[in-house]
Amino acid sequence: MNIENKVLETLKKIKLSKKDRIIVALSGGKDSTLVAWLLKKFGYNIEGFHINLKIKGYSDRCLESVRKLCSQLGIKLHVYDIQKEMGASMCYLRGGIQSRSKATIKNCAICGVIKKWIINNRIKKLRADKIATGHNLDDEAQTFLMNIFKGSPNLSANLGAISKNIGDSKFIPRIKPLFYVPENEIREYSKKQKLPVVYEKCPCALDSYRIQIREFLNTLSDKDKLNLIKNFEKLDNRIQKTKDTRVNYCELCGEPSRNKICKKCELMRI
Ligand code: AMP
Ligand code: ZN
Repeated sequence: MNIENKVLETLKKIKLSKKDRIIVALSGGKDSTLVAWLLKKFGYNIEGFHINLKIKGYSDRCLESVRKLCSQLGIKLHVYDIQKEMGASMCYLRGGIQSRSKATIKNCAICGVIKKWIINNRIKKLRADKIATGHNLDDEAQTFLMNIFKGSPNLSANLGAISKNIGDSKFIPRIKPLFYVPENEIREYSKKQKLPVVYEKCPCALDSYRIQIREFLNTLSDKDKLNLIKNFEKLDNRIQKTKDTRVNYCELCGEPSRNKICKKCELMRI
């Protein structure tokens, strides 16, 4: 099946409505760029949201790609400037947290938590019906394995092409149109279509646990990765039944959180 049909099938499965106002979290990379490009091609109502992390040089190139994409697609772009909103660049915020923390916290772990918080918090304020991200089959297979190795398969209860906390008004459902699409196919397709994409890796992504898992998974075929995810989906119903469905809110920022204080606020107060 080609990439467009795979995505169409996923959108059908999650029953995405053409009436929904969808905000795509655009990093400037190939995955989220392709999500916006395909959703627009299929006639969905989309806007873009980009976090300018102010990582020297790299962030400028990402912003430029995102601007180009949104102007090509004729869609509105919302830009969150981390320097203006949080008072410092991601590198500065991260460096501060790392120097104050007794434990070693890797770059991507800090950036990932802060980005996810910003995406949820800001897109909610923009009153979107859905948040779309560029997560692909490789990302999801990695997350699943990481959760298994960490000894908490229940964390995988949040995996899926659509998030499952739909009943709560503080959650905007998150969708992953590329959930079943391997990274290799995305790279090939986006190059063929000459999409405005930054292909270079983030200069701060040095040695995360995810990179280790990615290297291992890349010794397997795309079919193996798909099988891993499909087998997880079979288990998912059972995981859902044992899941703690209570929703807590962070005492500091009010965002939904598993614990009393959310991960972002935990990091910021170190
Ligand atoms: P990552 O955590 O970098 O693997 O990114 C996962 C997803 O988050 C991407 O596919 C994007 O949808 C979104 N994302 C990552 N970085 C940004 C950014 N700077 N601005 C907006 N969305 C982002
Ligand atoms: Zn919080």
